[in-house]
Amino acid sequence: KNDFSAEFDVVVVGSGAGAMTAAVAAADKGLSVLVVEKADQYGGTSALSGGGIWIPNNHYFKAIGGNDSEELAWTYLKAAVGDRVDEKRLRTYLKKAPEMIAWLEQHTRVRYAVAEKYPDYYQDLPGALAGGRSLDPELFDLSQLGDELHALREGAPGNMLMGRIAWTARHAHKAMSKSRGWRLMIIGLMLRYKLDFAWRRKTGSRRDRRTALGNALVASLRVSMMDRKIPLWLKTDFRELIEEAGRVCGVVVERDGQVLRIAARKGVVLGSGGFEQNQALRDKYLPQPNKVAWSATPAGANTGAALEAAQKLGAATDLMEWGWWAPSLLVPGEDRARGVFAERAFPGAIVVNGEGRRFVNEAAPYLEFVDAMYRDNTLSGGKTIPSWVVFDSKFRFNYAMGPLMPAQIMPDSRLRKEWLNKVYFKADSLDALAAQIGVDAAGLKSTVERVNGFARTGKDEDFARGGNVFDRYYGDSNISPNPCLAPMEKGPYYAMPMYAGDIGTKGGLLTDEHARVLCESGEPIAGLYAIGNTSASVMGTTYPGAGGTLGPAMTFGYVAAGHLAEQ
Ligand code: FAD
Repeated sequence: KNDFSAEFDVVVVGSGAGAMTAAVAAADKGLSVLVVEKADQYGGTSALSGGGIWIPNNHYFKAIGGNDSEELAWTYLKAAVGDRVDEKRLRTYLKKAPEMIAWLEQHTRVRYAVAEKYPDYYQDLPGALAGGRSLDPELFDLSQLGDELHALREGAPGNMLMGRIAWTARHAHKAMSKSRGWRLMIIGLMLRYKLDFAWRRKTGSRRDRRTALGNALVASLRVSMMDRKIPLWLKTDFRELIEEAGRVCGVVVERDGQVLRIAARKGVVLGSGGFEQNQALRDKYLPQPNKVAWSATPAGANTGAALEAAQKLGAATDLMEWGWWAPSLLVPGEDRARGVFAERAFPGAIVVNGEGRRFVNEAAPYLEFVDAMYRDNTLSGGKTIPSWVVFDSKFRFNYAMGPLMPAQIMPDSRLRKEWLNKVYFKADSLDALAAQIGVDAAGLKSTVERVNGFARTGKDEDFARGGNVFDRYYGDSNISPNPCLAPMEKGPYYAMPMYAGDIGTKGGLLTDEHARVLCESGEPIAGLYAIGNTSASVMGTTYPGAGGTLGPAMTFGYVAAGHLAEQ
């Protein structure tokens, strides 16, 4: 039985931000740790994410005079999540999240700044703040990674300026809302990138030396692991848990074609993402229609191996029918979909179903947007997935939509030829556009007329778009009376198909307030912990603010490490 090829106190499965936080925290508690990652690069979805973390009552906000407290955050979170999640887990989140980030800031290379203007997503709930709970990674200098640079999963082009230049969420907000000084800022960012050609030549890479967002988070965690000499085994596929006498005491992995048994004296932390890349599991659990191809997560990465291994030991699950939904666009040649986060709030584009009818506030949080897509798809008899984002040439000139940079930077003549009639459709009139995309023309025209009226009065009488500070976060601050609404009057008109995408799955192994996996009876499985999207979300069916997935992943990684150290 003791045929282990290696022994550690803790084995962490996966190398997303939650897993790496758990590894670093466990090492700081004096435990020996191994991190195993099946891909040939580390970072998972976390590395191509925005890296935002939703941490109520954090010290950064307080330092600039912000007003928040655990109780105010409780009012908000409880109002959002309701009874769907055990209160002990929710309370633990609110207590431990600020502690986790303060510890990271003091003891590791991770650096954040407060996104003081990024509002909580549910502005009509009590306790909601207009900013200060979402944190945004600082730029990180990739040269600190040395040889580990090439093993870092690259950031998403959709998250970068011109698809390649790093910018923080605060930069992106300034540019998208066209706030004062945005042009100069962009020129500065572009110059900084251009002038750093020597580093790119030296590393043989197009990457910006200063990385941002989730890439900065993962890189800074990786360097923190290197500081502690925590081994990271890439191309090491977790297969099974080893249980002895009712306790998880190791894992079976495949590495270089060899099956290895690795002992985990204190326990195993499953941080290997959800099951969004596994079509069979999607079909089993998620609403229809759904497709792996609509997910904005790395191809082939998160296939639910940890979920299935724990289920074999009798682990309970929850929220399995939920994704971290985000509408997405498909771009030929890219191996994952592009999530559409900000663009839906820009003035002058609407989203309609096959009847040419709107069904949601386009600027709504991404989870609610796709949830509304599914509900309307049932009502419309399957005519809402895909939906169509429709805009006119004025919008096209001024704003980005997915891979289409504003025409003032990238006119249609410079767009890839193969995108026409796939990524986007174009016609001189709404009638002709409707005919091309198979949408009811009368419906579309009357919707556009109605929204044009709302744009003039500033009041969306159907869905209240632009009606709160969250909607307006990405609105155009120069447009009045409503920064999220503008008339669509100037052909040619454009349409792009939008899918019911996700940025990960939300359901998974049921855990307690120590991140221990519970079995159906409610008892913890000794030695087994789950975090991030491997676990059922502490946020229940909601997405309370930017960073609502990574904040809990990292916090419960930190919590699991603390509990493991006490074993
Ligand atoms: P991941 O980060 O995906 O890590 C899981 C890792 O486990 C992967 O590297 C995978 O290869 C590995 N793995 C899987 N199976 C195995 C196996 N069998 N053996 C070994 N390793 C395995 N969330 C936020 O909170 N804030 C944001 O700003 C934000 N922005 C986003 C932007 C985009 C474009 C996208 C796509 C997502 C964004 N998200 C954001 C969502 C967030 O990135 C994910 O929910 C989060 O990264 C999930 O973390 P995780 O640790 O569970 O999984």
